[in-house]
Amino acid sequence: HRPFVIVGAGLAGGRAAQTLREAGHDGPVILIGDETEPPYERPPLSKGLLLGTTAPEDVYLHQAGWYAQHDIDLRTGTRAVAIDPASHRLELGGGRHLDYDRLLLATGSRARALPVPGADLDGVLSLRNLAHSYRIGTALSEGAHLVVVGAGWIGLEVAAAARARGAAVTVVETAAAPLRHVLGDEIAAVFTDLHRDHGVRFRFGAQVRRMMGTGRVSAVELADDSVLTADAVIVGIGAQPNTEIAAEAGLAVDNGVLVDDGLCTADPAIWAAGDIANAYHPLLGTRVRVEHWAHALHSGPAAARAMLGQTVSYDRLPYFYTDQYDLGMEYTGHAPPGSYDRVVVRGDIGKREFIAFWTAGRRVLAGMNVNVWDVNEPIEQLIRDGVPVDLAELADPDVALDDVTR
Ligand code: FAD
Repeated sequence: HRPFVIVGAGLAGGRAAQTLREAGHDGPVILIGDETEPPYERPPLSKGLLLGTTAPEDVYLHQAGWYAQHDIDLRTGTRAVAIDPASHRLELGGGRHLDYDRLLLATGSRARALPVPGADLDGVLSLRNLAHSYRIGTALSEGAHLVVVGAGWIGLEVAAAARARGAAVTVVETAAAPLRHVLGDEIAAVFTDLHRDHGVRFRFGAQVRRMMGTGRVSAVELADDSVLTADAVIVGIGAQPNTEIAAEAGLAVDNGVLVDDGLCTADPAIWAAGDIANAYHPLLGTRVRVEHWAHALHSGPAAARAMLGQTVSYDRLPYFYTDQYDLGMEYTGHAPPGSYDRVVVRGDIGKREFIAFWTAGRRVLAGMNVNVWDVNEPIEQLIRDGVPVDLAELADPDVALDDVTR
């Protein structure tokens, strides 16, 4: 019996292995991961682990013994280096190989590197894995000077944790606002104000020229010649999907591994899930690739079911969340720049208690609830309905979301 092999022991891969067993598959399952850790969840790495509110043992998908108990051959510290689709063979580091029956690629992303002089100095850190989070945690002491490069979700979450731990934080961002391309100017300002209210300094429209220091970073020099003192620098300028082995194997790769709505590549024995999957979305009618926890959580199992021959059409709406200080937010839907013509706000932006809707031709494309809870289902329904709605009612907190005229 050739095994079902999963490459990437992250959330999507771990959940896929679990689903294979839950669905009754009793053939061999091998889960390969190049980290030394069994699968774990990454959201706490920039939140609870840094704040000390999440215990290290709580980040794991399962306890280490769970895999053997479920007859899943978890091989940590093992890297897949090449795929030969013709012979169903996977090459591993160290010259070993594995023959597979069916293969799931769930290799996730890596942090984008900042190509400036000094980026290799000690104390210049990115955040993708547990070890990174622990290292950053030790840098967040009272009075330390932290420079965060990139005002994306991870950069802002680290900034929030650092402020909570008493560090002085400056965030350097090339754009004129944080998260501008995701949220647009009006909603992006909510996050600027939130962080300023908590003592974060921003340098917008700023470029890092180089990191300064001997051995260890001591400052960051910007393109306008200004110099920021830094005991540590967190680089949070986005992630890059790990698609190299797929591309080298001749699979179609274009902003991720191209898969159909059943998460299958053009090779009927190879699937992709999680951050690397650029999947056709049957509801949105377009390809979508997202780097979201919920997508890894659900697309891994969907791919596993498809590997077992079940008919799968993965049509979950993109969903992500963040927690920063006392602000909690959830975002549902898909509204890339240029896709919407209005942002409709229900509630009080100033109080940071509202729902924002991105709409096009009065249809709701996405909704973001900030410190407003239990509204996912109606928001999702508004998007799924896909019909024009009454925008005045959408903005009116006295009209229940379910009752908005459509
Ligand atoms: P990963 O979790 O990246 O796992 C892939 C695994 O495959 C890794 O262990 C990798 O080392 C391994 N691998 C790669 N190549 C190979 C190879 N060739 N051979 C063997 N193993 C390989 N999302 C949200 O929605 N909300 C949040 O608040 C949020 N916070 C986050 C905070 C941080 C700090 C980070 C880094 C991410 C956060 N995310 C969040 C995103 C979310 O964690 C990811 O979308 C999710 O982890 C993707 O899961 P994955 O299984 O596809 O990939």
